[in-house]
Amino acid sequence: MMKNMNDSKSVRRPLVADHIKDLPKSGIRAFFDLVNTMDDVISLGVGEPDFTTPWTIRESGIFSLEKGHTSYTSNLGTIALRREICDYVASDYHVQYSPENECIVTVGVSEALDIAIRALVNPGDEVIYTEPCFVSYPAEVRMAHGVPVPVETYAKDGFALDPEVLRSKITPRSRVLLLNFPCNPTGAVMSQEGLEKIAEIAIENDLVVITDEIYSELTYEGTHVSIASLPGMRDRTIFLHGFSKAFAMTGWRVGYACGPHEIIDAMMKVHQYAIMCASTTAQEAALEALRNGRRAMNEMRESYRERRNLMVAGFNRIGLDCLMPKGAFYTFPSIASTGLSSTEFAEELLRAERVAVVPGPAFGACGEGFVRCCYASSAEDIIEAIERIGRFVASLKRR
Ligand code: PMP
Repeated sequence: MMKNMNDSKSVRRPLVADHIKDLPKSGIRAFFDLVNTMDDVISLGVGEPDFTTPWTIRESGIFSLEKGHTSYTSNLGTIALRREICDYVASDYHVQYSPENECIVTVGVSEALDIAIRALVNPGDEVIYTEPCFVSYPAEVRMAHGVPVPVETYAKDGFALDPEVLRSKITPRSRVLLLNFPCNPTGAVMSQEGLEKIAEIAIENDLVVITDEIYSELTYEGTHVSIASLPGMRDRTIFLHGFSKAFAMTGWRVGYACGPHEIIDAMMKVHQYAIMCASTTAQEAALEALRNGRRAMNEMRESYRERRNLMVAGFNRIGLDCLMPKGAFYTFPSIASTGLSSTEFAEELLRAERVAVVPGPAFGACGEGFVRCCYASSAEDIIEAIERIGRFVASLKRR
């Protein structure tokens, strides 16, 4: 019999690097593997728009292929898209970047985040980030051999970052502060005054700030302010943004980073060797999104706003305390009054009533006592889900 060349017994070293072996798999994924085995589930779990990409944007992607635009672009992305991005960031976020060397088009904000962290972090450097947070943050830091340092945010502050709590986390190894407002999973935003205090701390401690503003167009109250626009911040900030949420383009995989030339140049090296360039088709579609997508984007935001109001009112009616989130498309109700842990709540709710929500600790330990619910679902599904959750909560009281 032929010897199997892949027989693992012939390999004497561990097959996988220690820091990757120790990395936990996303808590969301495990839970949704279970959801996918069940029928008739209303899922409030996924974090993506329920809209199809607006037609003119899709058409631009199709037209790009029809024209035969099937080659690589410049590593940084097409100059036409970079110009449009820099105009958009200047007009809506009040920060000026040069399309020639201060902007890079990436494979979603996911890649922008990865190359930003890899470009900035030396082994052992501490990266401070707010928790509860997007599941990728601590993992990205670990993959770059950095040390993740969560800074908790609390319901009493509307999940905004308290400058004094941030201050208490700073050490001589602190290198990067990673922010995400509006926030996944809490929907929290930061006021200008709040951001000014954070900026002061960043300058005082010579931190580089990575600001992930992927949900910024989905701001329902007040005006979104970017920390990059505050005095003294532009040259120590990397601004990350993309098309996935505001333009309903998750599957196109296109995002970008803007920042001072020196950092973008370093990110470009990682990008060049790992990725080459973002998809040409997606870049041409993204160009159309920025040129002509604003009306569709505003319509989608207004639709999310209605569904947000519907969901928050529903939770409070059935006795689960829920803050009114000011941005993104998630609510983060407290389930503490039920006496169950977040994971027990999510699993029992799924079995009893077939509604899927994400346990808060998937976004960090301080998410215990909460669950994340995405309202990018139809109004009918939201109404039905609230009814089912209400029935489940009432049944717990009879136990
Ligand atoms: N940042 C945050 C806060 C997110 O919630 C997500 C997606 N859920 C991303 C980044 C990644 O988005 P993209 O599709 O642009 O890679």
